[in-house]
Amino acid sequence: MIPRLRPDLGWEELAAALRISSSGDVARFEAAFAREMGQNHAVAFPYGRTGLMLLLEALGLSGREVIVPAYTCVVVAHSVMLSGNRPVFVDCPATDFNMDLDAAESLVTERTGALIATSIFGYPVDLDRLERIRRRHPQLAIIQDCAHSYGARWKGRPVNREGVAAIFGINISKLITSIFGGMVTTDDEGLAARLRELRRARVREPGLSKTVKRLAYLVAVYPAFTRALYPLVHGLQHAGWLDRFVRYYDEARIDMPSDHLVGMTDVEARVGLVQIRRYREILETRLRRAEAWRRLLAGVPGIELPPAVEGATYSHCVGLVADRNAWAEAWARHGVELGTIIDYTIPGMAAYRNMAPGEFPNSTRFAGHIVNFPLGYDVPENVRKGVMPVHAASAGQ
Ligand SMILES: *Cc1c(COP(=O)(O)O)cnc(C)c1O
Repeated sequence: MIPRLRPDLGWEELAAALRISSSGDVARFEAAFAREMGQNHAVAFPYGRTGLMLLLEALGLSGREVIVPAYTCVVVAHSVMLSGNRPVFVDCPATDFNMDLDAAESLVTERTGALIATSIFGYPVDLDRLERIRRRHPQLAIIQDCAHSYGARWKGRPVNREGVAAIFGINISKLITSIFGGMVTTDDEGLAARLRELRRARVREPGLSKTVKRLAYLVAVYPAFTRALYPLVHGLQHAGWLDRFVRYYDEARIDMPSDHLVGMTDVEARVGLVQIRRYREILETRLRRAEAWRRLLAGVPGIELPPAVEGATYSHCVGLVADRNAWAEAWARHGVELGTIIDYTIPGMAAYRNMAPGEFPNSTRFAGHIVNFPLGYDVPENVRKGVMPVHAASAGQ
């Protein structure tokens, strides 16, 4: 069975993790990350969400409204709440997974402190429209959430550089990984200094126990996503045995992991350093696989593929289908596990429902019908030869 995701980790990463090293690995990872992303500063955090929370604080925002997509990772809204601000949710347009920027602009008031632009699934946010918003509302902090997009480009311009700062998630489900971890990049020296100051004040130095936990997690990841062992992992996941490891939210609670203020370990930074060095190769492999899937699925009835977008980086290769469970079952019988990211809207979750009245019809449709095709392995031979589930060859939507 081909798992829905697999981090692109080789022996070099494992060797780097196990190496005894003098300190300074986190700073080295930050420098390499900033250079690869073409920015002056990168500041590392235990999670992307910790970075976003402290970024909002570093921007001096408190008691303000922050405009965020309704259709994005729920940890974004949690970061806004726990920074002492309030999210204002915006639906997607009918044909695009990214937040509707016209609707977003119409929600800007004197209470608004920031707007979090997101390039969901690696589809670049429209930087021309964003630039118009920035010109009309110069007081608004525009933050790029690049956890899905990394170096996605809009008309050749990398999205991460078009805002006051960008945040990245670097866990095993992202384009590159440092086991866990997050990064904030910026070209603003003062902001970088404030972020480091806040980190010094609020994030504890990691101890030996976190290092050991992260190492153990990394070592477990290698066999877990091999084709031979994955069926077992898949079974345990379905039985709920791995919830402690794979569930990243509880729909009724606004919280963060208990170690969200315990710093990135040197082990994570060393793995991240190898990954950032391999970043372009990893990205090219993903692009090639996403394009192969999209070519194969283009003629298949019953699936709606988003149009190709120049500069997209495909954190996920997605399509929309009427009956997601039927598709997942049929593909599983063909040895392919489909993912279902993102299968919720944030304002539809119990924790946010009362805070966000209104309808989010496009986000809701995407949440209910999205499937992701795996990018951690090449498209399997049988599928490449046109052997596909029966429903895919016949059923209409
Ligand atoms: C993963 C992710 C983040 C940050 O995630 P962490 O798990 O906190 O590192 C932020 N935004 C989006 C859209 C994400 O997918």
